[in-house]
Amino acid sequence: MALYVHWPFCVSKCPYCDFNSHVRAEIDNAAWRDALLSDLAHEAALNERRVLGSIFFGGGTPSLMPPAIVSALIDAAARRWTLAPGIEITLEANPSSVEAARFADLAAAGVNRVSLGLQSLEDEALHFLGRAHDVREGLAALDVAQSVFDRVNFDLIYARPGQSETDWEAELARGLSLGTGHLSLYQLTIEPGTRFATLAAQGKLTPADPDHGATLYEMTQAMTQAAGLPAYEISNHARPGEESRHNLTYWRYGDYAGIGPGAHGRRAGMATLRHRKPENWISAVSRNGHGLQSEEVLDAASKGREALLMGLRLAEGVDLDRIARLAERQVEQLVDEGAIARLAALGLLRREGPRLRVTPAGMLLLDAILPEIVTV
Ligand code: SF4
Repeated sequence: MALYVHWPFCVSKCPYCDFNSHVRAEIDNAAWRDALLSDLAHEAALNERRVLGSIFFGGGTPSLMPPAIVSALIDAAARRWTLAPGIEITLEANPSSVEAARFADLAAAGVNRVSLGLQSLEDEALHFLGRAHDVREGLAALDVAQSVFDRVNFDLIYARPGQSETDWEAELARGLSLGTGHLSLYQLTIEPGTRFATLAAQGKLTPADPDHGATLYEMTQAMTQAAGLPAYEISNHARPGEESRHNLTYWRYGDYAGIGPGAHGRRAGMATLRHRKPENWISAVSRNGHGLQSEEVLDAASKGREALLMGLRLAEGVDLDRIARLAERQVEQLVDEGAIARLAALGLLRREGPRLRVTPAGMLLLDAILPEIVTV
């Protein structure tokens, strides 16, 4: 199983962001350390004798966590669970000089993989995205990260308003030349409730045309494939063996404990959810010893549906026999075989024995394909 730890604080709120992230003038680090340790202990007591394959510190901006808190949480996880040999321990980081200065301490705490929110390799775009760093600072942080951590990923956001094919081709080529084994490449989406959504509603921001976005997506697939980092998930690219083991646990529908504000978890057929607002979560922990807001037993059909929706994001696809067992149904009750045959004839799906996968051409239409084929 995997462990996810959510640190909900950021220096400022990016205008495109709908994550559970908050700006606070002051953070009581000792109280947050104790509360996260309590939340961890609660999950560990319910998930005893499991082997942890990965830990992921996400946010928010977990690179703002004092390294001593990261260290205390990793130590607590090691005491409560068995750590798999070579466990992957990832931390999401913003590429500022302040945070880069902490990388060596984070590595000493046990972090061995970092995921950097570079987001763009153009200063104008970073300004538009409301990021606190510029390209020079971002690349300097990447340099430090590559010298300190075994494995490094960075994120880029493309299909920004006004971004041409040539612009993205040059930016992605530069990104690929930086030599990381993993890249997360997301199209800019306008999420409800964000500053960008307000600007779009006021006509002050025009999102990229979807057809143009599709062209950029296809270009992305071709360039990353040629560079030896093919897509293993709709937005994630890696050299073989460099895939995020933590995220693969979600997509392959493994169990994960999720602690901290708003964290989701899956514990032996149960969906767990923590209080979202930092203040509500921390008062729940001081009241109850854990930050749980709800625990819901998932019925077999829900498990099958979730496993299909997650697994079909992966280039490797899903094993329908395994999911049928989870869903306690026959494969024919899980998916629409007629729709699969029709979409396979169009080159959007591939069916090989029990394995079903979405082709690269189909990934562009994933949101439309899933309701056609998933019947559970
Ligand atoms: S730094 Fe990341 S989590 Fe924080 S507001 Fe920006 S995009 Fe959201």
